[in-house]
Amino acid sequence: MFDVWRSMVARCENPKATHFKDYGGRGIVVCDRWKEYPAFFADMAWDYAKGLTIERNDVNGRYDPMNCRWISRSEQALNKRTTLRVEFRGRRMAFVSAWKASGALVNLRTAWSRYSRYGWDLERALTGAPMKQGRRRKEGRCGNGHLLTATSTFISRRSGRVNCKACVSANTARYRARLLSQPEAQA
Ligand SMILES: [Zn+2]
Repeated sequence: MFDVWRSMVARCENPKATHFKDYGGRGIVVCDRWKEYPAFFADMAWDYAKGLTIERNDVNGRYDPMNCRWISRSEQALNKRTTLRVEFRGRRMAFVSAWKASGALVNLRTAWSRYSRYGWDLERALTGAPMKQGRRRKEGRCGNGHLLTATSTFISRRSGRVNCKACVSANTARYRARLLSQPEAQA
């Protein structure tokens, strides 16, 4: 936890620190109380666990007891990815803002994987019904109606389930097209 504190202070106050330009350089500061490690420890140790990382709720706000919480690395990675800018109802905004604006009907991780991994269109990724309530499959067809045969399918090594080749390649193509159309997506 001391290392977390030390890097937090460094990226806000030391122009030579690795990420200074994204923190101190953007006006992000550490509150006066937290300039001393014991005070930081007193405020934050109670729910700290090894490997957690400190996150500000308001990304433009400072490091202080009201604005900070501990999150896991995978949650942090999700938060970073979902700053990807998208066109939502006529306005450009971060994916996470679109998710909030849509009412956060599905959880963020689900919405993000629908959009980025499965290639759903944005509106449906954010507001669509949970996948489990999806349409019922016809016998011998995938969810999108492709005929399932020995040559049109493969067994996923990861899930062990039968995958439809036509759907997988369509999703992959949509995902690639989306990445290529958004050069600023490179984080
Ligand atoms: Zn299919």
